[in-house]
Amino acid sequence: MSSIIQLLPDHVANQIAAGEVVQRPASVVKELLENAVDARATDIKLIIKDAGKSLVQVIDNGLGMSVTDARLCFERHATSKIRQAEDLFSLHTKGFRGEALASIAAIAHVEMKTKQDQEELGTHIIIEGSKFVSQDVAVLPKGTSFSVKNLFFNIPARRNFLKSEVVEYRHIVDEFQRVALAHANIHFTFYHNGSEMFNLPPSNFRQRIVNIFSGKTNEKLVPVQEETEIVEIKGFVSKPEFAKKSRGEQFFFVNDRFIKSGYLHHAIMGAYEGLLKDGAQPSYFLYLQVPPNTIDINIHPTKTEIKFDDEHALYAILRSAVKHSLGQFNIAPVLDFDRDANLDTPYHYKNLEGSTPTIQVNGNYNPFSEASTNKQFNTNSYETRKLEVINWESLYIGLKQETETIIENEGMHFEGEEVKSFLFDENDVEKVVNKTYQIHKKYIVNPIKSGMVIVNQHRAHQRVLYEQFLTNMTLHKASSQQLLFPLHLYFSTNEIALIAELQLALVNTGFIFEETNKDSVVISGLPVNITESEVTLVLEQLLSDLQDGIPESSFSQNDTIAKSMARSLAVKTGTYLTEKEQENLVNGLFACKDPNVSPFQKPTFITMRVEDLDNKFAL
Ligand code: ADP
Ligand code: MG
Repeated sequence: MSSIIQLLPDHVANQIAAGEVVQRPASVVKELLENAVDARATDIKLIIKDAGKSLVQVIDNGLGMSVTDARLCFERHATSKIRQAEDLFSLHTKGFRGEALASIAAIAHVEMKTKQDQEELGTHIIIEGSKFVSQDVAVLPKGTSFSVKNLFFNIPARRNFLKSEVVEYRHIVDEFQRVALAHANIHFTFYHNGSEMFNLPPSNFRQRIVNIFSGKTNEKLVPVQEETEIVEIKGFVSKPEFAKKSRGEQFFFVNDRFIKSGYLHHAIMGAYEGLLKDGAQPSYFLYLQVPPNTIDINIHPTKTEIKFDDEHALYAILRSAVKHSLGQFNIAPVLDFDRDANLDTPYHYKNLEGSTPTIQVNGNYNPFSEASTNKQFNTNSYETRKLEVINWESLYIGLKQETETIIENEGMHFEGEEVKSFLFDENDVEKVVNKTYQIHKKYIVNPIKSGMVIVNQHRAHQRVLYEQFLTNMTLHKASSQQLLFPLHLYFSTNEIALIAELQLALVNTGFIFEETNKDSVVISGLPVNITESEVTLVLEQLLSDLQDGIPESSFSQNDTIAKSMARSLAVKTGTYLTEKEQENLVNGLFACKDPNVSPFQKPTFITMRVEDLDNKFAL
């Protein structure tokens, strides 16, 4: 019998191979973008028409090709990226199969223009359905431009198989985003039917994510960082409260290559255990660097899956790194256990320039009489609001006098002579000795010798924070926590102007501004009592508190800022506090210079004597 096996002609082989590489316009986008990245371009433009069905063009400013390479690149298995089998284990490029251009040229009309930097002239090639139509010498800029028209022109079945433009466009955006996220240092622009869809200037990971997914994304991100021998992890995960209903923004990059991995996804979900509602999906953008010889990216033709040598270890490291970050950045109430409130002496007004106390003294004040307590708060609120604008520190001097006056006038016998100590037992003047109880996640009840004190947790914490901020600002003693990744926050022009005007005062609270731009600020350090997740909220609240203008004197500026921040950050009503937190708060409050009222002149606590209780039972 005669032999029947024949070698397929190249163009047929290429068409068959193309079926694997090019499923839709988005596949062309991916291959061309990756080639541009491999060519070390710093500026890459993607231009498409009709969701890529009519045109996909990629223009880069990379290395370009010599005349010979320009011709050769369309051959199957023609690649400059590997030479021998071992090279597969030290890959630093996206491509390595040498199949993409041959495949694309087999099923479309392709025009390529390319020039190397050192050459005077470049090469212009037109190839259609694997046939070279023309090759010319041309005057060209450095780099390469590929335009791919009429995809699947010679395979009508495939062309008809394409989905709607909306769907195909979505696939293209996905590919574009994956490459753009993996290479934040490259400038990417993307035009569809003549409109600019994305313009992503060179930046860092965080900014790139924000530029792609809008400014709002920034507040949702929690940084993740871990370095071990087998993997270096960097990137961001979303806070649990921003989890989505569908899997959307979930990205793994391994050695700058987007990959899919159900296994690693599972590790992330493990880290969120107990933090998400059923079915909710967190966003993540995680960049893993591993030694190239520990992965095999060769197992899947479209290369979004890879195989790791030590998958189990990777799983464990990833899970714990994400868990750690979530723990660090998501503690709900912001009470600082590590700080002993007694070590902070708020308002060292003795260090400031002297000033005359001007507060009016209410000689009839009796802390244990309900009527006079209320009266005192009311008068206080009126008087002080007027006074604080003029001279806030006098309030505290006044308060001391006021309390002393009360003690003298009333002739009452208190165990401690200290202003702050009158509520508590003799020797332990600054410490809550008795057990505290939280009721209705709103008040903290604390038995004292003469009865009990009931603290409003929200207002008390406002007071504590307010005094902390004010102390730091007036004494320039604020400490900052450096951020791993600077925060890029976007604001309107007006808001930027306000921030610029307040910059010095904000710096005194502990903010470190790295840059102030037209529409954004870059913050690389935060006051210690503000977490990264709160910063946007805090600044937005501050800006809205300043709608009526910035106060003139720096004292009242500081005061406004301290108040606003205290309001944003204070633990809310409805927040459960542990016993330790309750104690810290009560101790913190009574270590304040003015524990009686919140910064907004609302009572922070009331007291009830045993006699008051007795009276109630007497009826
Ligand atoms: P691979 O990327 O797997 O090597 P391709 O078919 O995508 O295979 O590309 C073939 C070769 O053409 C590449 O190895 C590279 O040398 C060259 N090439 C492709 N695109 C570009 C480009 N934008 N700039 C410079 N060289 C390119
Ligand atoms: Mg390639």
